[in-house]
Amino acid sequence: PVPTPAPTAWLHHPAPTAPRRHASHKGSFGDVLVIGGQGLHAGAAMQGAAILAATAALHQGAGRVFLHLLDNGQLAHLPQTPEIMLRSQVAALAQLGSSTVVCGCGGGSSVAALLPKVLEHSARLVLDADALNAVATDAVLRQRLKNRQANGLPTILTPHPLEAARLLATNTQEVQADRLTAAQSLADTLGCTVLLKGSGSIMASPNQPPRINPTGNARLATGGTGDVLAGMIAALWASQGQDSHTTASDAAYLHGQLADAWPAHRPLTASALAQMQY
Ligand code: AMP
Ligand code: MG
Repeated sequence: PVPTPAPTAWLHHPAPTAPRRHASHKGSFGDVLVIGGQGLHAGAAMQGAAILAATAALHQGAGRVFLHLLDNGQLAHLPQTPEIMLRSQVAALAQLGSSTVVCGCGGGSSVAALLPKVLEHSARLVLDADALNAVATDAVLRQRLKNRQANGLPTILTPHPLEAARLLATNTQEVQADRLTAAQSLADTLGCTVLLKGSGSIMASPNQPPRINPTGNARLATGGTGDVLAGMIAALWASQGQDSHTTASDAAYLHGQLADAWPAHRPLTASALAQMQY
């Protein structure tokens, strides 16, 4: 008989999470810092994206959540989530080295200016949305991203297919035609964990077997759910301290599992998803 070939990717199911030790404190569960949410520019503001990411990080158990809204966003606190601490640019940059950083959600064109420091100093880094678009169009930023692997600093990229296509200098059809190859080649060339979003999200990292996420459904196809995913990844990373491949896989699983638990006949909003727990 012909031997069955090994699968090219494994369906991912997370291990149960350990209960919180009794003698722990908020420092035991890590700091998440979200940088994004461009203020009003040419008639558009995108602060909601960064607020969604921070809110999801809060509800998934990060010890402390900080938020820097780009362009001196006017907010001093968030009435719905007073736990989230707003930070100026100077204060945010000073705490990169002790934080799990989410950068890019709703970042617009303002995020590129902060990226050199964010790439150099963030202890753990999740790059999403406009931060990915900035890296795709700037060779210097791309090199700084690659340098993180050499410096032992882990990074998770969370592109949707169009963002992945920009990073690969191709088009969405090519990415979708072979999602595993697209994710793995990005992971290998940039030295990052790549979570390629969409139905059946792929997790790829250098020297690791890729994984496919089995949870989630089309109720997630609505604005803001990707920002929520970025916040969930950061919270799991900060509080549980697993490697980037495991963290991205576990967060994708949880994000889809929460959407699967939502009533099938009712549209899901990103705000509701950000506040759900399993
Ligand atoms: P974004 O495109 O950045 O807003 O992210 C959308 C999020 O929703 C990602 O986590 C996707 O994987 C997820 N998503 C969108 N559409 C679907 C779908 N049809 N099935 C499963 N997950 C989806
Ligand atoms: Mg997105």
